[in-house]
Amino acid sequence: MENRLVVQVEDVSFRYEKEEVLEHVNLAVPKGAFLGLVGPNGSGKSTLLKCVLGLLKPDRGRISLFGEPIESFREWHRIGFVSQKANSFNRGFPATVEEVVMSGLTAKRGLFRLLTKEDRRAVEAALEAVGLCGLAKRNIGELSGGQQQRVFIARALASKPDLLILDEPTVGVDARHVHEFYELLGDLNRRGLTLVLVTHDIGTITDRVTHIACLNKRLYFHGNVKEFERLGDEEISRFYGHSLHVLSHQH
Ligand code: ADP
Repeated sequence: MENRLVVQVEDVSFRYEKEEVLEHVNLAVPKGAFLGLVGPNGSGKSTLLKCVLGLLKPDRGRISLFGEPIESFREWHRIGFVSQKANSFNRGFPATVEEVVMSGLTAKRGLFRLLTKEDRRAVEAALEAVGLCGLAKRNIGELSGGQQQRVFIARALASKPDLLILDEPTVGVDARHVHEFYELLGDLNRRGLTLVLVTHDIGTITDRVTHIACLNKRLYFHGNVKEFERLGDEEISRFYGHSLHVLSHQH
């Protein structure tokens, strides 16, 4: 039977130079979870992501993906990643929405492999999942920040991942569309996709995710939302420098 943990991080520490950026981090993402990984700027979130994506090698500890040690993990197509800067295309960029979504598949298969009919169907299905079918032939640069972010989610979905990791996905998304954006993520999660969303903004995610992990070099908290809500203001402010009371009144 396949491991129920999609990501398992055990006792991971990492330093770029002298100072440790991650200290003894333990994190487990169960299949079907929607985890919010939160922490202030500079708290090590991107570094942890890079370790999980195999781009940095921790100084100590172990990481497993889908039950397989990262050193021998080969099924990278099962993991989709939407980076922070994905939605900042300039207006003149010469690619249609459809082409950007397809580029997710060509990147995985090699540029000169022709896309099959099945690939094209996957592109269509991905655009449908994010509600952008009608815009397939439009130039990516003509879309709003929120729509562009959806295109990049579709790009990641086209490879049919089991896990989707999003790094600060609402940066550059119009405040009016943030809610819609989270609805989309909730929808994908209910359809079985495991999600990890990285953000510095704890206030916007507590009622959208199933699990929360609070990182600031060390992992201060890791559990489901109910357990998180039981934390006192003091515990939150110790980690974050803000009170939960204030944060919970922001939306
Ligand atoms: P976050 O994603 O939470 O903002 P990062 O993981 O980007 O945090 O950074 C954590 C710390 O590591 C910061 O103090 C940052 O300055 C430092 N850092 C990040 N990348 C590098 C790097 N390539 N070389 C040296 N220090 C780095």
